[in-house]
Amino acid sequence: MGRSSAVLGVGMVAAIGAGGMATANDKPKAPVSVPDLGALVDKLPAASDLPGFGGLADKADAESTAQAAPLTQVGLTSQDAAAGQTDAGEALRARILQQADAQQAAADTQAREVAASAAAAEAAQEAARLAEAERKAEEERRRKAEEERKRKAEEERLRKLAASYTLPLANFQLTSTFGESGSMWSNNHTGQDFAAPTGTPVKAVHTGTIKEAGWAGAYGYRIILQLEDGTEVWYCHLSSMTRTSGQVTTGDTIGRVGSTGNSSGPHLHLEVRPGGGDPINPLVWLRSKGQAI
Ligand SMILES: [Zn+2]
Repeated sequence: MGRSSAVLGVGMVAAIGAGGMATANDKPKAPVSVPDLGALVDKLPAASDLPGFGGLADKADAESTAQAAPLTQVGLTSQDAAAGQTDAGEALRARILQQADAQQAAADTQAREVAASAAAAEAAQEAARLAEAERKAEEERRRKAEEERKRKAEEERLRKLAASYTLPLANFQLTSTFGESGSMWSNNHTGQDFAAPTGTPVKAVHTGTIKEAGWAGAYGYRIILQLEDGTEVWYCHLSSMTRTSGQVTTGDTIGRVGSTGNSSGPHLHLEVRPGGGDPINPLVWLRSKGQAI
């Protein structure tokens, strides 16, 4: 309000100055009591000591009262007259105050609108942030649920897989491992040895077909079990062969442990050959089928 007081104060001075000039020009014919303009001007510096607009207005009032009507009515408009204003200074003051009120009201309205608009924008941003956070949380819930579903599906797959395979012997001791070098073999060991007493039942590790069963030189009596995926499982050094052809299922006894062929004692020499090709580590393969070994 200090700034608008200052503006109004200057306007007041200018308006009064204009009134004074008009009066000075009319001087010759007016037998009115001419106000002491000098005194009025003398008062102005003090009156215009801004923002002392109120003080100036008070002084203008005092002047109005002291002065004759004709001069003080110079600034009156028909609207002022209609509003009951008979004093020019008072009318001007009223108009200025009215304008100031209007300007202040407009400024207040604008400030309220700006504040409301800013609040609305902030609320919209907050809502957007919340919506984004909720969207991310939902995405995370779905991702975790999907992860859990996949984990359970894999667990179930392995459980079924494990149930469809078995180890070749119920009791055994692991001796020579895959890839070992030794005087018993022309190359590194091509299978895994399971030491067990002669006559121990040897089982089909998975459902498949007996592709071959018979004498195989250094391997002694050997059964070749071919699985559905083409993998060949070789059972060697057998003392006897229970199954020599046809379909067998997981766990069926197909022969017995022995020490035939190039062997230093009773054990099962097991080989695993994917697609009937080169041998791989039987223990790694059995573990990949869910077997604990
Ligand atoms: Zn062996």
